[in-house]
Amino acid sequence: MRLFLAIRLTPELKGALIDVQNVWYDMGVRGRFTPEENLHLTLAFIGEYPDPEAVLDALKAISFAPIPLTPDGVGAFGDLWWAGVSGGPALTGAARRVRRALAEAGIPFDRKRFSPHITLLRRASVSSPPPVAAAPVSMSADTITLFRSDRGKNGMLYTELGSIRATQSGDS
Ligand code: ATP
Ligand code: MG
Repeated sequence: MRLFLAIRLTPELKGALIDVQNVWYDMGVRGRFTPEENLHLTLAFIGEYPDPEAVLDALKAISFAPIPLTPDGVGAFGDLWWAGVSGGPALTGAARRVRRALAEAGIPFDRKRFSPHITLLRRASVSSPPPVAAAPVSMSADTITLFRSDRGKNGMLYTELGSIRATQSGDS
């Protein structure tokens, strides 16, 4: 199964991101807009891996502080457009710990440098994203979730398989 670790977003933050999608749409931008229920922030992409329990076991070893998140601009990787997120040292620290725990358990994951972003649009019809500022909504994430990703009839289907919670101390 195809696995990834991500942070779920509050309805308020999702709403602010949907507003950005709508501004682009009204400007004439077309493509595959991520549906609201699929908006998330990926911390580590594992990909094809048969053992979700092993992933959850590996994560039990880490602790992380609650992560403050707020939108921070928009950008693109080719024709994939995203909203940036800032989460300060709590976010970079959590991503580092998650990835280290996976590495120590011998679980493969994509090792590209962590670049916190929320995918809003794929196959954009326009070459670069018009700068639109999301409403300055903030949230605090206290859960990291393991998802499996399946290609459904109507787009991607992400299913929660388990999660770990923040501790106050955040050290490990
Ligand atoms: P699709 O690839 O069919 O457009 P998707 O990207 O939403 O759909 P997945 O490819 O399963 O679904 O990816 C799940 C999550 O992991 C997404 O947030 C995606 O951006 C991220 N992701 C996928 N591949 C990688 C990768 N190689 N490195 C880092 N993150 C990735
Ligand atoms: Mg993908």
